[in-house]
Amino acid sequence: MVNLDVLAIAAHPDDVEQTCGGALMRMAAHGYRTGALDLTAGDMGTRGTPEQRMAEAEVAARHLRLGWRGNLRFPDARLQNDIAARMTLAVKIRELRPRVVILPYWEGRHPDHYRASELGYEACFLAGLKKLDEYSEPHRPYKVIYASSYANVTPSFVVDISAQFDARMAALMSYQSQYGAQAGGSGLFPEEQEIRERLGAVARFYGNLIGVKYGEPFVVKETMQVDDIVNMGVRSI
Ligand SMILES: [Zn+2]
Repeated sequence: MVNLDVLAIAAHPDDVEQTCGGALMRMAAHGYRTGALDLTAGDMGTRGTPEQRMAEAEVAARHLRLGWRGNLRFPDARLQNDIAARMTLAVKIRELRPRVVILPYWEGRHPDHYRASELGYEACFLAGLKKLDEYSEPHRPYKVIYASSYANVTPSFVVDISAQFDARMAALMSYQSQYGAQAGGSGLFPEEQEIRERLGAVARFYGNLIGVKYGEPFVVKETMQVDDIVNMGVRSI
């Protein structure tokens, strides 16, 4: 058993680096034990091999200061939310015992992303059932939050990642097979500078919503509780 404080579940290696890597780094700085579980190894990708992607994910994990990273090797680009996938993921969640799970936002362009969201939620539920599996202890995460960088929705909250933004970018650039300058597949993939500008613009936009330089947005389905209305963040006027 691992007992993570926060686990990000994502469809592809490099998704976490683009959507919640800054928040994970900040939580690691607070002393929390963080982890990332990638569901596929990008085997349908034009560039690189799954083995390369997984080796790059390990390098990225060090930039993100993750305490744990794993890959379930589900099929890329055709991720299915079926009973076998749900069971495999649920048993993994019982092993890792995260208090908080970060999932991709439940709508998006790439089917793997919204499937990962639904699969992740249902696996979190199953993980809490005593009789699911006789070899592992039940565990249901306390909180599920959704990383919404790529969804055009108003976030429930934004995490200030101004101090983490550069390291998060370095983590993303660890995926040299995807983002390094090379001939194969060029034209399909934006160059490194373009990616930096695009991710910088997204993080600046969300940072601006809370009056900081860079931010990562999240959506929660439950209402947020406030205990001290005198010390709330983000200025109104
Ligand atoms: Zn992805």
